[in-house]
Amino acid sequence: MAEHRICPSATGESPDAQIIGFIGADGVVGSIAPPIPLTDEMRGTLDARPERKFRLAGQCVESKCGNWENQSCALIGRMRQQLDCHLPETEPTDKLQRCAIRSACVWWRQDGPQACRVCSFVIYNPSE
Ligand code: SF4
Repeated sequence: MAEHRICPSATGESPDAQIIGFIGADGVVGSIAPPIPLTDEMRGTLDARPERKFRLAGQCVESKCGNWENQSCALIGRMRQQLDCHLPETEPTDKLQRCAIRSACVWWRQDGPQACRVCSFVIYNPSE
C-alpha cells in the first residue's frame, strides 16, 4: 500500500481537499490548524478556484502531478531556489509555524524545516 503523503499546495479539484491556511492581503499564508475539510457545501459558496483564497492540502498524487520528478515533489526545490536568498536565516532553535499536516507533508518529509521556512510564501498559481 502506498505511503500516505499529503500535498501542501493542492487545488479545490482534490476530492479530499482541506483548508490549511488563508492567503492574507500581503500574499503571505496564515496557517489554519486543525484543518477544515472543504465540503461540497463550502465548494458551492466559494469561488470556483478556492485555492485563490486558501491554502489547500490534499492527497499527493505523485506521478499524476506535473511537479513529480525523480520520486519527489520538485515544487518545493524551485520555491526554495527563488525565496531562500530573500529570507533571513533560521536558527535551529527557531519555532516552526503551526501546521495542520506536518507529519504527512511531502515537503516536510523532503526538506524538513527548510521547507516550512518558505512555505508561507507559496501560493498556488491560479494561471493555467
Ligand atoms: S512545508 Fe512545513 S509548514 Fe508547510 S505544509 Fe509542510 S510541514 Fe506544514
